[in-house]
Amino acid sequence: MNPVAFVLGRWLFGGCCFCKATPFQLSRPVNHLYLYSNRYSHNSSRRASLGRRNISLAPIIMAAYREEPSNFIVKNRSRFLKYFSDTKDISLATNIDVLVKEDLEKYLESQSSSLRAWLHSNSFVPCKGKETNWIAVPSENFPGKIEKLVVVLGDGSSFGGCRWMGFACLPTGAPAGLYKLGFVSEKVVEQGFTSTRAAFAWALGAYTFPIYKGTSGGKDNSVVSERTPDPAFLPVLIWPSDCDRSLVESCASATFLVRDMISTPAEDMGPAAVENTARLLAEEYPGATVRSVIDEALIKENFPQIYMVGRGASNRNRARLIELVAGEPNQPTVCLLGKGVSFDSGGLDIKSASGMRLMKKDMGGAAHALGVASMILSSKLPIHLRVIISAVENAVDGESYRPGDIIKARNGLTTEVCNTDAEGRLILADALVYGCEFSPQLIVDFATLTGAARVALGTDVAVFFSNNDQFAEKLGEAAFQVDDPVWRLPLYSGYRSQLDSKLADLKNIGEGSAGGYGGAILAALYLKEFVSCSIPWIHFDIMAYNVASKPGKPEGGEAMGMRAVFRLLQSKYGSASHPGMI
Ligand SMILES: [Zn+2]
Repeated sequence: MNPVAFVLGRWLFGGCCFCKATPFQLSRPVNHLYLYSNRYSHNSSRRASLGRRNISLAPIIMAAYREEPSNFIVKNRSRFLKYFSDTKDISLATNIDVLVKEDLEKYLESQSSSLRAWLHSNSFVPCKGKETNWIAVPSENFPGKIEKLVVVLGDGSSFGGCRWMGFACLPTGAPAGLYKLGFVSEKVVEQGFTSTRAAFAWALGAYTFPIYKGTSGGKDNSVVSERTPDPAFLPVLIWPSDCDRSLVESCASATFLVRDMISTPAEDMGPAAVENTARLLAEEYPGATVRSVIDEALIKENFPQIYMVGRGASNRNRARLIELVAGEPNQPTVCLLGKGVSFDSGGLDIKSASGMRLMKKDMGGAAHALGVASMILSSKLPIHLRVIISAVENAVDGESYRPGDIIKARNGLTTEVCNTDAEGRLILADALVYGCEFSPQLIVDFATLTGAARVALGTDVAVFFSNNDQFAEKLGEAAFQVDDPVWRLPLYSGYRSQLDSKLADLKNIGEGSAGGYGGAILAALYLKEFVSCSIPWIHFDIMAYNVASKPGKPEGGEAMGMRAVFRLLQSKYGSASHPGMI
């Protein structure tokens, strides 16, 4: 864009044209400008084009705001604790009886006639097998109080048959009050319902994304971060005595972290905010360290593809490699990699408006890597963990890399860029080569990589690839155990020749008559070129977003395959005496 038009546009049209946040900016204190100048301007000698970017005041003032979401996300990822109580005094708590439709009749036989009459008069017939139905039964002895909740779990068809997730409808639906698990039918137990899973579903059901909503729940973190449960205002569950509470807290807070990161707009979750999130997370675990390699340092440290893809982004969204390391060097090394494209415009091969609409989620892989890391760290799995995140914004600019450019990866392989929208594989390639240099026992990468994976398996099932059948099988078993759906696609070598280039070692997409088919496999085959064949590798191609709401899974960012990977690591490296799982 013409710089003069850019600046004029900002002054003339303000929030309507170029910047959505003008009302905010005008209300922010002036010292944010000072904060920004101190923090960023000393890094700003890279490009001549930088000058024009700093002329406009709007992005400068917003910069101070951008630190808040990552602080909020890390510090408040256990905010579901508001919906749980430690109290030992269960006398005042309301029972939640849990059934499935098949045993409702038998259950009613053992209940009082007034309860049966109440259900009858309310036409409580859970006929819609899909949905979980529940009803509050009034107390006979204490008018105005609830005697119990009767919950009939649905058939789980909206969760691929997982019925216990239906319990997640209660935190947002049930009346405020103190609850405890009451009668749980045998058939419900047979469906995999445990007190640990009930608590996890309850925690997920409590998820909302409050950062931008309203005034009280918005920027005032103190309101949202309040963890004290108050049954006068919320449904609060007493932790079941036989529940694996630490596992619930670990899994749920990792899920909250991932969802929050993905749902945060790109304006506030750029590469720097992803790094800040990693740093804040690491601060909570002694011994965990984070370093980053930013912008031209990427060239010096030989991450050229990350640099090239991120070169078109503005100064405040400079490309970086983020590395979190934890654990002892004598422990088995596991590398978790994440694609962190904070916003994917497609680059010069720009996406359509509808194709770009959800692209704030393109850092979902980075969020997943940090989510699994937080589970490993909080459960103290004996792993030497190395999280490697390639964080860039794929932007349109005079500095953007171009179709036809030939770029060289960390291992020296050259790639002809046939489409700048196939950028995720380029930045992951450098991270994979780097990860292999530590000879890990396993590399897992997470990436919102291709639309083709969604075409193949839809939005709910996490696609994965692996060069190691043993690990792939174990991952499939783990996913089944924890009801976290994944499906393996093949690294079919017959398609590999589609990535041959006349000018370079590889192309970044398949072109020609076969182009457009098998895109997820081609992306995985491209990545495979950067993995040492002796190192077991799992590559996830995930949606990382719920396009519609279900109980416990509201529309927005979502963790997919994360519990499956954790279960895999837990079964391989965890202690046999603590085999808890969700
Ligand atoms: Zn893309």
